[in-house]
Amino acid sequence: MKIEQFPEQIRPYIIPEPTGRMTYTCLGCNKSFGIDRLLYTCPHCGSVLLLKNENIDDIHRLGGKTWRSIFDHRRMLNQNALKGVFRYYEFMAPVIPLERIIYLGEGHTPLVEANSRLRDLAGRDFYFKNDGLNPSASFKDRGMACALSYINALAKEKGISKLPAICASTGDTSASAALYASYLGDFITSAVLLPKGKVTPQQLSQPLGSGADVLEIQGVFDDCMKVVESLAEDYHVALLNSKNSWRILGQESFSFEIAQDFDYEVGDKVVVLPIGNAGNISAVMSGFLKFHEAGVIGDLPKIIGVQSEHADPVFRYYLEKNPEHRRFSPVAVQPSVAQAAMIGNPVSMPRVIELATAYDRAAGTKKIFIVQVKEQEIMDAMIVANRNGNIACTQGGESLAGFQRAVEQNLVGPQEVGVLDSTAHVLKFAVFQEMYFNDGFPPEFDVKPRPELKNAPTDVRPPKLQVYPSPGKPLSGDDMKVFVREMAAEIAEKLGLEKR
Ligand SMILES: *Cc1c(COP(=O)(O)O)cnc(C)c1O
Ligand SMILES: [Zn+2]
Repeated sequence: MKIEQFPEQIRPYIIPEPTGRMTYTCLGCNKSFGIDRLLYTCPHCGSVLLLKNENIDDIHRLGGKTWRSIFDHRRMLNQNALKGVFRYYEFMAPVIPLERIIYLGEGHTPLVEANSRLRDLAGRDFYFKNDGLNPSASFKDRGMACALSYINALAKEKGISKLPAICASTGDTSASAALYASYLGDFITSAVLLPKGKVTPQQLSQPLGSGADVLEIQGVFDDCMKVVESLAEDYHVALLNSKNSWRILGQESFSFEIAQDFDYEVGDKVVVLPIGNAGNISAVMSGFLKFHEAGVIGDLPKIIGVQSEHADPVFRYYLEKNPEHRRFSPVAVQPSVAQAAMIGNPVSMPRVIELATAYDRAAGTKKIFIVQVKEQEIMDAMIVANRNGNIACTQGGESLAGFQRAVEQNLVGPQEVGVLDSTAHVLKFAVFQEMYFNDGFPPEFDVKPRPELKNAPTDVRPPKLQVYPSPGKPLSGDDMKVFVREMAAEIAEKLGLEKR
């Protein structure tokens, strides 16, 4: 729709200007720093940062009703920069000139309502939000679009002609970083550090296909992270891990979309997501908080973070009920099918602590919960979800298993509705489905397939059939007739088809 066709009152706001004033704010010492350089940790105390818009009053002044109208009208706008997560420009990074924004099709992923079978199984209505339908097939693209747009703007402003970008990854961050960097190919080169053998072949193929330098490291993700941090400290590189708070900003769009897709009524919603490095849950809390403070939404939804018992440091932290006595300790991770969340020392833990407290305070009641699930439950949930029309990855299975646990523990009221983050596409994690179907899980995973959920291809070989076609040697005449007849008869019998 053309700009002159929008209602007059909101026309001036449809195309935004970079009028924000953002600063990095340290969660350790509370100091602020300018955004004219890339910071990952506080130069003063080393703690993690969040980005804050100092001009937030300008945004609040406009009022929730106007913002809702702006976002709803922007849905009809054909402006490349605002087609993706930057529909919510003012609430994310209103300092990036629109012409620097990179759009590769990220965001606005579908909400798919659970069918009646799945709903009965969970005991509550729920939706999957399919973040596997992002361009690199995981939610990481939301944050990467924001981080790379900012880096693009900064580089153009400062005339930087060569910038190596680097990240450690459980697979999906590297796929996303490599994709966005390859788009900006003129000045960014990307290198990704992966724990050798701890990412799936599909995830490995992605940064390779995008032309990144792929560096495999003996160890787990937490080890890769340490190496990357050391590189970022000592060399001129742009760090693309979720320590980079521009990524957190972009991932807030997940919350904004949920709000908009439910017509801004989310007080009865329960958003469920897996926790790995805890960047995503930080972003989701922050996003809803921002909309709440600005009056875009009236009530905050519940948020339930899920961890596998093989990688559960956040769950353990919150086991202590008295906030005064809580102490964070990293855990040594065990092999997990939720491999993208297999992290024992989440870098965003200080963000979680800060934001969860602020969230419960703003809600006036406890709305943040962490539950723990078993590897078996994650796999069963993923397989069952996908047998009911979904495309959930193992972490999506973790969301469903966590939702079931939360219902069991009475954390979800009878009228409440789940919104489950399926964080990546099932195809990225096909190896786990394969292990389930072949009963091939090594013992340390603790997963035994349920026979009724297994599936395998059947090699159809009718006993009477002797001649088969082969490459370059098609059948003809009677051979072909016999082939078709015997095959059809055998298949009809296997499938129990009734004769016409
Ligand atoms: C990164 C990732 C997670 C974990 O998200 P965090 O922000 O690290 O907590 C979960 N699922 C998938 C598919 C991921 O790629
Ligand atoms: Zn500090």
